Amino acid sequence: MTDHLMTTYKPLPVTFARGEGAYLFDAQGERYLDALSGIAVCGLGHAHPAVSEALCAQSQRLVHTSNLYRIDLQEQLASELCRVAEMDRAFFCNSGAEANEAAIKLARLYGHQRGIDTPQIIVTAGSFHGRTLATLTATGNAKIQAGFEPLPQGFLRAPYGDLPALRETAAANPDVVAVLVEPITGEGGIRIPAVDYLPALRALCDTNNWLLMLDEIQTGVGRTGQWFAHRHAGIRPDVMTLAKGLGNGVPIGACVARGAAANVFQPGTHGSTFGGNPLVASAALAVLRTIESEALVTRAAELGRYLLGGFKERLAAVTGVVEIRGIGLMLGIELDRPCAALMQRALARRLLINVTADNVVRLLPPLIITNDQADTIIAEVSELIEQFTDSQA
Ligand SMILES: *Cc1c(COP(=O)(O)O)cnc(C)c1O
Repeated sequence: MTDHLMTTYKPLPVTFARGEGAYLFDAQGERYLDALSGIAVCGLGHAHPAVSEALCAQSQRLVHTSNLYRIDLQEQLASELCRVAEMDRAFFCNSGAEANEAAIKLARLYGHQRGIDTPQIIVTAGSFHGRTLATLTATGNAKIQAGFEPLPQGFLRAPYGDLPALRETAAANPDVVAVLVEPITGEGGIRIPAVDYLPALRALCDTNNWLLMLDEIQTGVGRTGQWFAHRHAGIRPDVMTLAKGLGNGVPIGACVARGAAANVFQPGTHGSTFGGNPLVASAALAVLRTIESEALVTRAAELGRYLLGGFKERLAAVTGVVEIRGIGLMLGIELDRPCAALMQRALARRLLINVTADNVVRLLPPLIITNDQADTIIAEVSELIEQFTDSQA
């Protein structure tokens, strides 16, 4: 262990040397089943040949030129992304937080263009939007904000999944320009709002000329068994942010928009040195094309139903399990007690899982897992939870 890393993380005592599909291998060659995908990033699994080949070929041709020049691969990526997302224009950056920063700046500019000098964005409790100053302020979690005051202004807070309360928040302020929400919370514990929540939010935004901005950084790119989670609600956002699954591990973020929102930024209003460079664009193009050609969105839906059904059956009689929920390959098993210790216990069984919001076991397996691997995940995670709640009873 080096003393030369800032102590922002407390990593588990393992380091991986290589990966293949849904498996990772440590320095000793031990094999681990990955039910987390690097936190919803490696949807195609590790070392997917389509992504590796794109990266190898592109790295030998051209890595970076800056956005001072046209980038053909970035233009192609924008076209393909807008086609699958049914949006008009994309802006590329390098992470989720940056994608949300772009959305927040876009909303503020949209407000100013309409004569609102102090534009406000409504955000919700229990959300996670990133760690930069603006995005940690948008985040509905006091722990993430603590110690970083003074926080930027321009955000109004409402509970999640509660439209009447959100309407009340908005009524107190005439300067609302946008609502920023996750369609399903990720870090917040896989909270799935009622089916009418997003349609009602859409209608409220339409009535008031607010932008509906969806943070699909974790839910997007096939994860939930739809290309984007808002498709489950049958609505379309004005702005959507993406990152995690878009590059299969190559850092890329995107803010995509349609209609008036797509034309808010003008030359000079926003930018990124690295954003959408030829290397990352080639990787993201390979990701989108592979998801399409291998029908992985449908597969994620199918696997998600199988895993959810399997866990519900297997854990039905286990005391300490509060709720099992999920859409596609985004699953949460809520326990009645803190259970962060399960991550280490799973590691000892050569299985990678996560615990979020203190007491929710979170599973985000790659979209390419086999039925056998899904069975292993159900069996192993269920046994872990059973032993854990037993041993604590
Ligand atoms: C991970 C995540 C972010 C932040 O992404 P980074 O790449 O870590 O900056 C923002 N919003 C949601 C919903 C996320 O899951």
